[in-house]
Amino acid sequence: MKNPFENAMVQLEKATKIRNFESEFINSLKKPNHDIRISIPIKMDDGSKKTFEGYRVEYNNVLGPYKGGIRYHPNTEINEVKALAFWMTLKCAVVDIPMGGGKGGITVEPKDLSKGELERLSRGWVRGLSDILGPYKDVPAPDVNTNGEIMAWMVDEFAKITANKNTSETNATFTGKPVGVGGSEGRTQATGLGGFYVFETLRAEVGLPQKCKVVIQGFGNVGSNAARIFSENGHIVIAVSDSHVAILKEDGLDLKEVEAHKKKTGSLRYFVGARNITNEELLRLPCDLLIPAAFENVITDQNADGIKAKVILELANGPITPEADDILFKKSIPVIPDILANSGGVTVSYFEWQQNLNNAHWAEKEVLSKLKKTMEEASKKTLEKSKELNTSLRMGAFILALERIEEKLI
Ligand code: NAD
Repeated sequence: MKNPFENAMVQLEKATKIRNFESEFINSLKKPNHDIRISIPIKMDDGSKKTFEGYRVEYNNVLGPYKGGIRYHPNTEINEVKALAFWMTLKCAVVDIPMGGGKGGITVEPKDLSKGELERLSRGWVRGLSDILGPYKDVPAPDVNTNGEIMAWMVDEFAKITANKNTSETNATFTGKPVGVGGSEGRTQATGLGGFYVFETLRAEVGLPQKCKVVIQGFGNVGSNAARIFSENGHIVIAVSDSHVAILKEDGLDLKEVEAHKKKTGSLRYFVGARNITNEELLRLPCDLLIPAAFENVITDQNADGIKAKVILELANGPITPEADDILFKKSIPVIPDILANSGGVTVSYFEWQQNLNNAHWAEKEVLSKLKKTMEEASKKTLEKSKELNTSLRMGAFILALERIEEKLI
């Protein structure tokens, strides 16, 4: 299987076959502006020392400062971070915000670290990269296995290193912070909610009913919020999964109970109100809407043929390989692509950045209404572009983004 960056480049190549861009422009998007790797030595609780590998990829800043999350995962490596940074570049363009694309990470299993070790590691990432970070240069945020608390440690470390007394600028260097330390209302649920607004805008177009049977892979920030939001809006979530197990209840899961169980035990294992199935079985369940909300490369040429969902909403980044995309296209299963579907997170991150720089704090109602407007607009423009070029929604979103970036090149 190709790595995520190779997949991203296949997608880019595909877009250039549909719409003729200048080759110099496309070539400029085939590699990042900066691809930075750092060593992060920390002291472990037992007094020993351990060195971790960290990354920041600054892919493209034609539209604005580099913007993108930080991932902590044992499989995180440079090609994954490069792909995520490339997709961030396009994502910001799809929602038309003045931000470029970046992404960061650390190769680590965070579950193996104590809280103190995790904090020292997070502070170490900032120490290694503080020169390149800043509100007008590069603005990180959370991704897989990182959260508001980690962002708060990072802001604190950045403030110490830069001794910048301008708190609005220091705060605006990281988004996804807790509300008490300069975070935005609505950021935690923004990706799931943004995905729901995209789905609502395109639902009739992709031929789905008002009440859908929904299956979700992943039950972290994005997956659990999406499950709650879809269920609160009258849809029936029949299956969800985490890295340990998938659970199925054909007539609908009680999400409050699932959420409470996950909070209490840390996983979906041993949940009594549903049947256990494997993650592979989950992907093949008959349903109206399948939402991958975990990782890249989960739907491949090996399992795409077995997908029985009517539509796929990609809340994870890169969950479908280009080969699987072709199979799904032939099976007439519409895919609402990641660079549109999960762009609610970066949209509210942009709102947070704006609030910080202006010393403002918007009410949740205001944030969510701006998010809704942005997602609806991006969905409509993506649909228009895919219809204009008679292509998939993914290629519509790619070409819309590429046109916007090309137009802003100076
Ligand atoms: P998270 O760490 O909060 O959750 C990840 C979830 O995936 C966990 O429930 C984990 O148990 C599950 N998981 C891990 N391996 C799995 C496997 N093999 N099968 C099934 N589930 C598995 O991360 P998140 O922030 O929810 O991110 C999920 C996806 O959404 C990622 O692709 C991320 O890049 C993307 N995304 C996140 C945001 C955001 O705002 N957090 C924004 C845009 C896109």
